[in-house]
Amino acid sequence: MKVHEYQGKQLLQSYGVATPRGRVCFTVDEAVDAAEEIGGDLWVVKAQIHAGGRGKGGGVRLARSLDEGRRHAGDILGMTLVTHQTGPEGKVVKRLLVEAGADIEREFYVGMVVDRSAQRVVVMASSEGGTEIEEVAAKTPEKIHKAAVDPVAGLTKEQAMDLVAKIGLPEAVLERGAEFLRGLYRVYWETDASLAEINPLILTADQQVLALDAKFNFDDNALFRQPQVHELRDLDEEDANEIEASKYGLSYIALDGNIGCLVNGAGLAMATMDIIKLYGAEPANFLDVGGGATTEQVTEAFVIMMRNPNLKAILVNIFGGIMRCDVIAEGLVNAAKEVHLSVPLVVRLEGTNVDKGREIIAQSGIEITSATTMADAAEKVVAAAGG
Ligand code: GDP
Ligand code: MG
Repeated sequence: MKVHEYQGKQLLQSYGVATPRGRVCFTVDEAVDAAEEIGGDLWVVKAQIHAGGRGKGGGVRLARSLDEGRRHAGDILGMTLVTHQTGPEGKVVKRLLVEAGADIEREFYVGMVVDRSAQRVVVMASSEGGTEIEEVAAKTPEKIHKAAVDPVAGLTKEQAMDLVAKIGLPEAVLERGAEFLRGLYRVYWETDASLAEINPLILTADQQVLALDAKFNFDDNALFRQPQVHELRDLDEEDANEIEASKYGLSYIALDGNIGCLVNGAGLAMATMDIIKLYGAEPANFLDVGGGATTEQVTEAFVIMMRNPNLKAILVNIFGGIMRCDVIAEGLVNAAKEVHLSVPLVVRLEGTNVDKGREIIAQSGIEITSATTMADAAEKVVAAAGG
């Protein structure tokens, strides 16, 4: 689950990690009120969407007067902001963050992720803040410093001091920088975050260390024990079909291709997408109906896939283990009747009760192309979609 920058900053503040003073606003008048309340003579008006790269797209603007702030707020609220992370269709801005403008002396980068092979949270820090970290990683990887954190000890003072020294924080603020990192790590650890990125972390002219930007992702599987994080969910920012799918216990992720996939099990779903690519086409979605899908779930899965205007064909790839092939076949037949399939359907069933499953499909009278192996299925569905 993703959250907005202002929500990430509120979490940081609740752990004593420094950020600029700011307020979330939903209207232009609120934005002007917020700027007045914050005071000073420089403000930043920032679009709040679940995507980065807002600065380059015109979603982060400095204001030197309340009038200018009002203009920026009016321009940004309601705009369709396109960044490298939104896709070409962009995102409509519905919330703003108005903040005290910071006098930036230097920009840094800090991030935290789980390194699965190390089985540790890894803290990354770089002197190259403000720019895209992917670019730094590609061109000058030696400028990214890392430390793996022992889950029992947490991020130690020594590790934190070492990192902030390596990225070139001045001597006088090393302690402050290390405390910042340790605070960020506590937020990350205690909220079950899966990603934290402060880009940029800034050193201000008066030698404060502040999070100028904040990006957090959280582990969906931990939300049940993180009610205060769960509350931050903004459904406006999420794909409507993905939300709908999750209500039915389906894991659905929209993709750019034209071959719909309905699969049981995440591993098989990944393999199915791979083999579609191998045969020269692109999947329209990832869809895992899980181990015990009901007719209702399968029907819903078809409904969601059929909403995609790019859809050219559907591949159903089921391995019957706990899930019996005859149950899935019945679900398929009912679903196909209910949603009036308008694209070719290729089905590959294997496993428990497969003969019974194939029989149900054969007798249904619905036009379904049967396939035996994964390769056979992929070849047939790619051909059905027109290559
Ligand atoms: P992003 O583009 O979505 O990553 O949004 P950021 O919050 O990182 O802002 C983009 C850039 O705007 C930053 O890297 C800064 O250069 C600039 N910026 C943001 N806030 C301030 C501020 O308070 N003062 C100044 N001078 N620049 C700012
Ligand atoms: Mg940023």
